[in-house]
Amino acid sequence: MNDCIFCKIVNKQIPASIIYEDEDVLVFMDIGPIIKGHALVISKEHHGLVTETPNEILAKLHWVAKRVALAQMNELGADGVNIMQNNGAAAGQEVPHIHIHVIPRYASDGHHWNWNPKKYENIDEMNTLAEKLQKHL
Ligand code: AMP
Ligand code: ZN
Repeated sequence: MNDCIFCKIVNKQIPASIIYEDEDVLVFMDIGPIIKGHALVISKEHHGLVTETPNEILAKLHWVAKRVALAQMNELGADGVNIMQNNGAAAGQEVPHIHIHVIPRYASDGHHWNWNPKKYENIDEMNTLAEKLQKHL
């Protein structure tokens, strides 16, 4: 994928602050950190969504994300870590190359996700959706 910005980082065509690399995975600092120390764990191979990424690659991405989280806690003194992954423009994915955000969190960092829980009309509405999902699992 020639015009993919993360493929360009993988191919060293554009610079990034790389903190880890192996045969399948690259980790670099997010240039627009939610909290300073925010890193991105990406596959070297171009895949778009989580649903399009081979399971072995996904597993490796998550092992590495765990190591980044440990580094943020042990070295940067993070009190917690958000690990998140957006899929599709509707979900806020801006770069269409799979990546896991690993974001260090501090008790006093003042950041709040806009997490607005909704309510189902009734229990049947929830159970109808549950049945639809269950058929595929
Ligand atoms: P998403 O919205 O999940 O696709 O996240 C894309 C992330 O990539 C954003 O947090 C951006 O700040 C980050 N980003 C975009 N371009 C670069 C770049 N050249 N180097 C580092 N991070 C980048
Ligand atoms: Zn790519």
